[in-house]
Amino acid sequence: MLQTDKLELKAPGKINLGLDVLGKREDGYHEIKTIMQTVWLCDDIILRKTAHPGIELQSNLDYLPDNETNLAYKAAALLMEEFKIKTGVDIKLYKHIPVAAGMAGGSADAAAVLFGINKLFSLGLSYGDLTKRAEVLGADVPYCVLRGTYLCTGKGEVMERLPYMPHCSLVIVKPAFSVATKKVFEQYDYAKDIVHPDLSRLIGGLEKGDLKEIAAGMGNVLEQVTAKHHPVITRLKESLIRLGALNAIMSGSGPTVFGIFDDDAKARRAAKRLHFGGLNSDRKVYCVGVHHVRRNNGV
Ligand code: ATP
Repeated sequence: MLQTDKLELKAPGKINLGLDVLGKREDGYHEIKTIMQTVWLCDDIILRKTAHPGIELQSNLDYLPDNETNLAYKAAALLMEEFKIKTGVDIKLYKHIPVAAGMAGGSADAAAVLFGINKLFSLGLSYGDLTKRAEVLGADVPYCVLRGTYLCTGKGEVMERLPYMPHCSLVIVKPAFSVATKKVFEQYDYAKDIVHPDLSRLIGGLEKGDLKEIAAGMGNVLEQVTAKHHPVITRLKESLIRLGALNAIMSGSGPTVFGIFDDDAKARRAAKRLHFGGLNSDRKVYCVGVHHVRRNNGV
């Protein structure tokens, strides 16, 4: 078999089609129920073996850590220490997924690096082996290893595969600020009069392959917390629906908002309007794009 010294990887982000918080656990984490969907908005990662030992990481964003606190670095270190790899690896990280935005960019990078180190050093680990190790790196890293459409419970690490999401176009909008997941959950704990989404309708829609039902069942309980502090989230949702989305919600702990469209041209027109339109005139929107759901596991 041809041995390679370099690997180019895609690390796709995710959206939460639905997210509910069921309670708080004794270990301090929240018990969640979420339907995750991989999207074609990816970071690019290049891994290269080096003759000298150690991990070196560079990214295109100067505000991201390039040391052992970067999740891509942590993932490489985890496997290289366990398998006592004496040579080193160079990681080049090109971020396209917005940071601290509710799209699991860091987790996606960690998952891609686990996959890549396994391949580059021929460690022979299965997907099951990788997801077990992924849990140490973060609650949604196991999902990012598997990718696709999953119902995730527990902290997010208990995964049940769901039928594929039907073809659709997504307009993904990232407002010009970030939120910290931990803080959103803390604020959730003090929030009153929370309304929980009915995720069974969403799951039923996926089982029937019915995009309208899926859209109608979408909901994110954390929106009530993040949108309270950042009303632009509600305005973005309303704009997406006015521009033809079947529905629009916030992803994860936010602030990214996405709208689901059954027509690609309509989605492109909506993205253009949001990018050049009123909401962006005061620079409230940092990035808008049309993306698609990603079904397979290919890297
Ligand atoms: P989630 O949806 O899983 O809550 P998120 O999209 O809100 O994640 P990330 O983009 O994964 O958030 O980043 C969260 C924090 O992790 C950032 O503040 C960042 O400094 C840190 N971080 C460490 N490594 C990375 C990485 N490779 N990419 C992005 N952020 C990273």
